[in-house]
Amino acid sequence: PFDVLVVGGGPAGAAAAIYAARKGIRTGVAAERFGGQVLDTMSIENFISVKETEGPKLAVALEEHVRQYDVDIMNLQRAESLKTTPEGVEIGFAGGATLRGKTVIIATGARWREMNVPGEAQYRNKGVAYCPHCDGPLFKGKRVAVVGGGNSGVEAAIDLAGVVSHVTLLEFAPELKADAVLVRKLRSLPNVDIITQAQTTEVTGDGSRVNGLVYTDRASGQSKTVALEGVFVQIGLVPNSAWLKDSGVALTRFGEIEVDARGETSVPGVFAAGDVTTVPYKQIVIAMGEGSKASLAAFDHLIRHSAP
Ligand code: FAD
Repeated sequence: PFDVLVVGGGPAGAAAAIYAARKGIRTGVAAERFGGQVLDTMSIENFISVKETEGPKLAVALEEHVRQYDVDIMNLQRAESLKTTPEGVEIGFAGGATLRGKTVIIATGARWREMNVPGEAQYRNKGVAYCPHCDGPLFKGKRVAVVGGGNSGVEAAIDLAGVVSHVTLLEFAPELKADAVLVRKLRSLPNVDIITQAQTTEVTGDGSRVNGLVYTDRASGQSKTVALEGVFVQIGLVPNSAWLKDSGVALTRFGEIEVDARGETSVPGVFAAGDVTTVPYKQIVIAMGEGSKASLAAFDHLIRHSAP
């Protein structure tokens, strides 16, 4: 078996693999798509010490860095199960293969929930965005909408209102679902409109960039248009953890893996890092830090629990 088997090849998984390999222990990474969400990102301006880069470039750099070390990289491998055995932890993959690790680090990330309306996919990274911390500054002085009136949507709207010229917040339900203190703050901002009972039906564009959003006013049934340059979709982040359902690894009701300060899960020897966990603020630098930490904790576990 591997000493450390990492599942997932995004920033968290890559960092975990490098930190493990640097201890001179047997390390493997199995990932469905090496690079993870970074592959879907255009410009990255908050990866500290790198003023600006592009997602696909960073993804290549991640893989090259891992390949500097003696790490078995197994790409296009989708994990489907995890179980503990007397020898360690066994991961089952689609297609029937299994891999074993004395310790396992789960770094399977997350994905933004999409609206699935016309225009959303076409204008992704061309006005349609999911991460206000990442892409907010690209819309400086422009008009944007935030779709979703939960905590993340309202926080995004407050954050963006300080950067962009105008924010329209659209919520499907009759009331915003965010905490009252956030809603109060939002309502106090002069450049924010709040529209409830709004079902977004389309993102429109001129062929190269977003120029508007169409929604149905659920009270009147009328279709309405907002002219704008950006749409931030904030209707939830879905952790890639469904495959752990029967594994014994404790998940929150949102599907996030519960981890302690060292990244250890409820199953001894199983660690987790990055967007798939309860650690707040889903960002590249954070995922890398958490992946490194989980790897050091896995090494610590090995030296305490392995036969001499
Ligand atoms: P991921 O990057 O999601 O990687 C998960 C890995 O696990 C992938 O290799 C995936 O293929 C694999 N995987 C998933 N399920 C399985 C399975 N069952 N079996 C095997 N492998 C599996 N953050 C920033 O800091 N700055 C930005 O500018 C920025 N912009 C973003 C723009 C967009 C459009 C998006 C979507 C995200 C952006 N983020 C940004 C967030 C950032 O990309 C994530 O926080 C980060 O990638 C999380 O890293 P991760 O390793 O935890 O997970």
